[in-house]
Parts: sequence; C-alpha cells; structure tokens
Amino acid sequence: MGFDAFLGNEATVRHLREAIRAGRIPPSLILAGPKGSGKYTLAIMLAQAINCLRQPQTDGLPDFCGECSNCVRIAESYPLDLRVQEAIAAREEMRDADKKETRILIQTHPDIIVVPPDPPQLLIKMGQVRSVIHGMYRFPSDARHAIYIFTATAFMKEAANSLLKVLEEPPSFASIFLLAENPGELLPTIRSRCITYRLGALPIEDLEALLAERRPEWKPAQRSLVARLSEGAVGRALGFDLASYLAGRQDALLILRNALDESDHSALFRMTETYRAGADGQQKTSALLRALTSLLEDLLLLQSNAPSLVRNIDLMPELSRLSATTTLDWIEAASRGIHQVETGMRRNLLRSLSLDAFATELSSYGSPTSL
Ligand SMILES: [Zn+2]
Repeated sequence: MGFDAFLGNEATVRHLREAIRAGRIPPSLILAGPKGSGKYTLAIMLAQAINCLRQPQTDGLPDFCGECSNCVRIAESYPLDLRVQEAIAAREEMRDADKKETRILIQTHPDIIVVPPDPPQLLIKMGQVRSVIHGMYRFPSDARHAIYIFTATAFMKEAANSLLKVLEEPPSFASIFLLAENPGELLPTIRSRCITYRLGALPIEDLEALLAERRPEWKPAQRSLVARLSEGAVGRALGFDLASYLAGRQDALLILRNALDESDHSALFRMTETYRAGADGQQKTSALLRALTSLLEDLLLLQSNAPSLVRNIDLMPELSRLSATTTLDWIEAASRGIHQVETGMRRNLLRSLSLDAFATELSSYGSPTSL
C-alpha cells in the first residue's frame, strides 16, 4: 500500500509528495493526462497522503498507510464508475421535487468530495459547483486538508465562472484538483490559476511487465498487443476488454479485406446483420469502429515506413499485405467513412444499415490505386 502502487511518472509523483512534505499543497492543481493515465488514482492517493493519520514516510517523503480511518474512507471513492452509478440511482429514487435539488457528488469521507459530470448531459453543473463553494469555506471535520476532485473538464458556462471565483480566493485548508484529459477545454482564466502536472505514457515494456503480473491468463502476444493498444495508459491496459476488441477487430478485418482484397459480399452482409439496433448493437458497433480505426492507423504507419509503431503487431503479415494494396488517399477516405457511421449512430440510424452502406462504399472505391 502506498505510492509504490502508482506506476510510472516518478518525477511528477515525487514533486507532489515534496509539496506535501513542505506543507505547500497547491490550492488548485490540474492533473493532466490521457484516459487511463492514472489521474484519478493519483488524486485519491494524494488525498490519502495529505490526510493519513499515521503519516508514514517512504524514501523520506510522505506516504499513506491505507489502513487508518481516513485512508480507508477515502479509498472507498476508488471505484469511480460504481460510486457515480450509486449516486445517480439514489437520486432516481427521490421525489421529483428533491431530485432537482440533488447534486451528484461522491463523498465517502466527509472532507474529500469527488465531483463527476452530471448525466445525461455529462457536464459539471452550477448546482454542483455551488455545493462545493458552500462546503469549502467550512473547516474540514475529519481531515487536515479538504480536497475537491473534479473528474472532468466539461463545465456548464456559469458553473465554470463560479469555480473561477473560488480559485481566486481559496481557503487555506482546502484544495481543488481538476482532472483533465485536455486542459485546453478549461477556461484560460481557470488554467492560469492552477499548477498543472502532466501524467505521461508508460513505456510499452513496463506495461507488458505489469500485464504479465496482473493478467497471467493472457498469452505474451496478447499482452504485447494490449500494451500497444493502451498507448502507455496503465488504467486502460488493466481494464482492457480483450475479448470484445478481438471480436470487433475480426469484423473490421472482414470489411478491410472485402474492400482491399477479395470481395465476398455474402460474408460481409452476414456479419453486418449481426449488428442490431439498441444498446448492445451500439456497443458492438463502437467496438468495431474502434478496431477499424486502429487497423487504419496501423496501415498509415506502414505506409509511412514506421512499422515499429504498429499496434496490432500480431497481424503484421496481413497488415503488410493490405498496406501494399492501398494508398494514403484511400485510408483517409475510409477514416471519413468511419466518422460518418459514428455521426449516424448519434442520430440513431439503423446500425446494420449504416454499416452496410459504409462497407459497400469502401468496396466501391474499387482498386484503391485507381483513386
Ligand atoms: Zn492512513
């Protein structure tokens, strides 16, 4: 237990722990990094280290015990999706009048408050920021230092403006952590009041080693594939749904082969027919489009003479063969096609229809070299 469990980004973690040791916890900080890079995990660990009742040290820097009443209660916020679902379900049970007044907040410890985007719009709303402001100027009850963690950068306009006011005059006993996949989405005036720490990607070899430990049931080639597809993000690698990716990729390959190689329309339509409307079909289609996008990106890398960056390495021979029959223009046109299917999905067009149209269109480009 402790910061040992946080993989990668050692310099950033050390910096933040030094700030805790010096008693200079930034009043507002942005933890920036791609999805799955550990922003939320690190935010929770920092909240624990700042408030651990035993205050252990490792390497001469503050750590956390994971066992005291503060550590334990803060750690209950870890399964973020689950906690958000619980909060939403609790609100659904309420009378309509109360529903309106109830903000989605996660508070497994009285002084550590997690603020996720509120569905269905998935924006951080005025009411949520108002609750934060309301609580923030009161002394923490069980913590040394209160922490407010905003898990996304999508704020409603007036909510962002209110947050800005708190950032201008933060109390000395509370901090705001903003988790950002893309800090550029935050108001520049918000960014300028925060210290930004970036979490970068982990090297592929480190991810492979981690997966060997945590996913021993996967074959080495599968671990190597997942490490590459996760693009250095620990959370993505550990949570990777390999079965659904491989299923989507098999269908994506069928579309590519059909367009670039031998066309077999009956096989193609048998496949697209399995994509139905409804939530299941939507997930399945998204998995297919994600896989197709990653295959097209690999074809692009092969065309650009960068084979070492290819992610679907287990398909290298076939990708090389397909790459020889295609052109940059064709790949670009196919990417635009994917985009159209995605737009169609948002407009709730029948999935199998828009997939069929897309696959047929790809084949109709004919020999890509004739484009
Ligand atoms: Zn503790």
